[in-house]
Amino acid sequence: MNQWRDKLQNFMSGRYGSDELTRFLTAVVLICLVLSFFFLGGILSVIAVAVLIYDYYRIFSRNLQARRNENAWYLDKKYKVQAFFRSGKGRAVGNWCRQVGRNIRSAFQTIKLNLKYGKEYHIYTCPNPECRAKIRVPKGKGHIEITCPKCHEKFVRNS
Ligand SMILES: [Zn+2]
Repeated sequence: MNQWRDKLQNFMSGRYGSDELTRFLTAVVLICLVLSFFFLGGILSVIAVAVLIYDYYRIFSRNLQARRNENAWYLDKKYKVQAFFRSGKGRAVGNWCRQVGRNIRSAFQTIKLNLKYGKEYHIYTCPNPECRAKIRVPKGKGHIEITCPKCHEKFVRNS
């Protein structure tokens, strides 16, 4: 075992090894491979292999200064991205994504409930954007005021 370790140490001496960029590239490879099972299999596996080759090229490289510069470039971009997401604008983008996600989930819920109860009930969504509870109202009751059972918001609908 020690012999192998010595050999490896010998082989690695004077070579760059791994850094933060290595870890990031390895994560990119893994994500591409996992995603390639679901879609764009060909393209994503080509990207994964290309990134992997570059990743190992950097680890075994003897041009330490060039690799350090690449890592510094990566860290600079990473900090900028992190700073963006901590800033007001970044938080706005995050909130917008969450809101879109909630609307999509809400629309799917309405479709599901309509399939289940659509014959006898109207499915209404509470207009309060923080609540969006689904409310079942029997059909044919005419103009009615509905009170959301979750947040107690009142709204008027034709049933
Ligand atoms: Zn509500």
